[in-house]
Amino acid sequence: MCGIIGYVGKQNATNMLLHGLKKLEYRGYDSSGIAIIDSYNNFQIIKSIGKISELEFKINNNTIQKNNIGIGHTRWATHGIPNEVNAHPHECGDVILVHNGIIENYIEIKQELEKENVEFYTQTDTEVACAYINFIYSKEKDKIKCIKEATKHFKGSYALSIIFKDDINTIYATRLNSPLVIGISKDENFVSSDVSAFLKFTNKYILLNHLEYAKVSKDNVTIYNDNLEIIQNTINIANWSESEYEKSGYDHFMLKEIYEQPKVLKNIFNRYENEFKDIDISKYSNIHIVACGSAMHAGLIGKYLIENYLNIPVNVEIASEYRYKNTLINNNTLVIILSQSGETADTLAALKIAKEKNATTLAIVNVVGSSISREADKTIYTYAGPEIAVATTKGYTSQVAILISLILNKINDQKVLNELNNIDNILTNSVLNKIEEFKDIADKIYNKNDIFFIGRGIDYATCMEGSLKLKEISYIHSEAYPAGELKHGTISLIEDFTPVIAIATDKNIYEKTISNIKETKARGAYVIFITTEEFDTTDKFYDIKLVLPKTSNISSSLIVIPALQLISYYTAKNKNCDIDKPKNLAKSVTVE
Ligand code: GLU
Repeated sequence: MCGIIGYVGKQNATNMLLHGLKKLEYRGYDSSGIAIIDSYNNFQIIKSIGKISELEFKINNNTIQKNNIGIGHTRWATHGIPNEVNAHPHECGDVILVHNGIIENYIEIKQELEKENVEFYTQTDTEVACAYINFIYSKEKDKIKCIKEATKHFKGSYALSIIFKDDINTIYATRLNSPLVIGISKDENFVSSDVSAFLKFTNKYILLNHLEYAKVSKDNVTIYNDNLEIIQNTINIANWSESEYEKSGYDHFMLKEIYEQPKVLKNIFNRYENEFKDIDISKYSNIHIVACGSAMHAGLIGKYLIENYLNIPVNVEIASEYRYKNTLINNNTLVIILSQSGETADTLAALKIAKEKNATTLAIVNVVGSSISREADKTIYTYAGPEIAVATTKGYTSQVAILISLILNKINDQKVLNELNNIDNILTNSVLNKIEEFKDIADKIYNKNDIFFIGRGIDYATCMEGSLKLKEISYIHSEAYPAGELKHGTISLIEDFTPVIAIATDKNIYEKTISNIKETKARGAYVIFITTEEFDTTDKFYDIKLVLPKTSNISSSLIVIPALQLISYYTAKNKNCDIDKPKNLAKSVTVE
């Protein structure tokens, strides 16, 4: 959610900022901008609505002098529509800055500044932050002290990258609840929302912690803690390579990431013996799984598995609700936190609440060193590699795979273990190599307005994710229902040719689901039936059938979900949607 990049060094800053912004574009893409200082010490701010390519076009049509320092931003608007005025960087007096997050008390601060005759030109909270830092700077000339003094009045979340006009060699940075890292190289340094923006130039980076302050010049990086003492943060080495951020011949990152799932899942189950076997979640009296979006759907699969196989009550909670309700945590509650980025603002806040209430917290995240991984009592990394497409695929299935791994030691079923160890081959042969079937289904549904997903038990949890994927990237309205629940209201929406994607993989409830499918068929539904080769489907109660291999209940979702991802992918492709960057969305939701 919004990407920040800052560069200071010997290379052309404009090019470096554009490179970084392209890598960060998945974090927000409604508008963007850069501020650079040229070799005559002039400041130039260029902004554009839309994608980074539009900013690039504008930059190429401007006369830009040689420059070696600048800051850039790709925006996901929270306050004020996406237009050029509201786009970052913002400028006020001596200060130019870019911001990720929300300054919740910006109205109050704005009113205070208006009394001082400060004028505002945008609808953003960020301009107020900029003006306030400038206001404090008129009284406190020590820049680090000024930033600390100003930001202590900000409520909410911020990652800030700042240039003062009277110090044209330095970028200043600080953060609270939004991510920021410092890239370290020879004769050049970077400030960024994540390492992808500078990985081509350096794999060395420092994680800036909450309420730390950085002073970054070409040859030097100095970090201060909140007492303004100089501290030495560890220099980390990123082990993700630049090539992992490329499409590698695929049309879209989403497709590439779908096809990476066999390897990602196989790696997770390979880690079982050494890493997960000794983690005993059965010793807790109850478990809360807290997450947002697809991660919450992974949590629903976890709930079915943990309740079925470990007999422990599990609540799956939406993080944005959890953080503001009376969470019934006792000292034997385990709170499992799921987040691909490890920066999801609501999930991070929920984690803090769980810790305050003395729950044991276990995070399952993808991004190493992320805020959630640093806050939780224990973290399990999914190591799925960078996920660039905004709609998650491998991020989601890797979370499901870790949740599966956490119940395996209690089941101790060699057949299931063998199946999971072979998951890469099953998935590749039965799903990923059969794209014609998915294209065919996509051709049938892409021009529809409403699609329903139904299933029972774990298939219902899978339906939730399948439905979200379809909505996210194809913009088709879709709802997922427990198959038995449809008749309690929503079946009124089924009419001739309404697509119903019905999933039935569990033999314990297979017949019940089939009855529910027939109820929709009787009302004119166009039924796309997804099942496994275990069942005899000669009775033709469907219009199209997709048959997957028979697997245990434990692994079934890992096979069904990639099939649903591919249906969504080809549906969105038929509609010419911007699959990797769906409208209104952004990856890594670092605002409330
Ligand atoms: N709140 C700021 C704005 O709307 C920053 C949003 C972001 O993080 O992209 O401009």
